[in-house]
Amino acid sequence: IYTLAIESSCDDTSAAVLCNDKVLSNIVARQSVHEEYGGVVPELASRAHQQNIVPVVDVALKKAGITKDDLHCIAFTQGPGLMGSLLVGGSFAKSLSQGLQIPLIAVNHMKAHILAHFIQEEGFEKPKFPFLAMTISGGHTQIVKVTSFFNMEIIGETTDDAVGEAFDKSAKILGLPYPGGPLIDKYAQEGNPKTYSFTKPKVDGLNFSFSGLKTQILYFIQKNTALNPNFVEENKADICASIQYTIIEILMDKIKIAVKETGINQVAIGGGVSANSGIRTTLKEAEKKYGWKTFIPKFEYTTDNAAMIGIVGYYNFLENNFSDTSVVSKARIEF
Ligand code: ATP
Ligand code: FE
Repeated sequence: IYTLAIESSCDDTSAAVLCNDKVLSNIVARQSVHEEYGGVVPELASRAHQQNIVPVVDVALKKAGITKDDLHCIAFTQGPGLMGSLLVGGSFAKSLSQGLQIPLIAVNHMKAHILAHFIQEEGFEKPKFPFLAMTISGGHTQIVKVTSFFNMEIIGETTDDAVGEAFDKSAKILGLPYPGGPLIDKYAQEGNPKTYSFTKPKVDGLNFSFSGLKTQILYFIQKNTALNPNFVEENKADICASIQYTIIEILMDKIKIAVKETGINQVAIGGGVSANSGIRTTLKEAEKKYGWKTFIPKFEYTTDNAAMIGIVGYYNFLENNFSDTSVVSKARIEF
């Protein structure tokens, strides 16, 4: 089964071709226009998607070594995301599916971040149901109990900022360019995580909060910069390591409770922040420490990519779960 997948929920335009659960191509066109604004500008994002989508799909098909006439279905991101961005991918997918007379499959982006673990990859094991997934991304922070491909329940989520925002906003306070998450990760690798300590928020149950941490970091930097204007420059690695350490602790505290409460000790992570090297090592260590089985996505399937949309499309295709052309893009979408 050849699936073409389109992802355009935020600022990356991506197209992938899968043969069953194997990825033949996964092309991502990053939009650099947003860098100078320090964040994603929705109008610019949708305009760039319009420019990118046809060439990106062409390259994906070419790299996969097939033509559009070989395709069996088209999967696309229905939401959540930026409306203008979603519409570009959605309209493209709809017209192509009509033109080719093949099924259309609308995919939830957050479920795709989780189900990316079912892409067939050498050296990567697939989780067995049920498992816990922690989706840690630019717009979400959730703990999800996954009982099947089509059955998932959110058992914890952030009450304010997402963990990716906590990384990006902290980076902004340090004067790092957008998106700063990967840069915090990079500097943290040279630093001592115990140099500075930040307090963790007190949130009941399995929910998260990150906005307090951001304010705490802002005051901490303001206070120290007043004493020494070069404070950030001189201590960048230790500051980044300490921030990252705190964020990881916050995540680990909650997933530990989730394992205890559900009795499920298979833990998968997904979403852009699962690219973070600190989180990846901490989770691997948890395997030995707590006897969990952990699943860490291949790097290219962490941040937004169409391959993860394609794998969800494939499993829906097998069940004949198709969408009709009246399906609409949704900025917010029920799980
Ligand atoms: P969502 O999936 O919630 O709709 P999104 O699609 O915009 O949001 P992703 O692409 O999944 O988000 O993730 C992007 C986020 O991941 C950004 O906040 C980015 O800073 C963060 N990120 C990427 N790599 C790293 C890293 N190595 N360390 C920390 N954060 C990272
Ligand atoms: Fe995402």
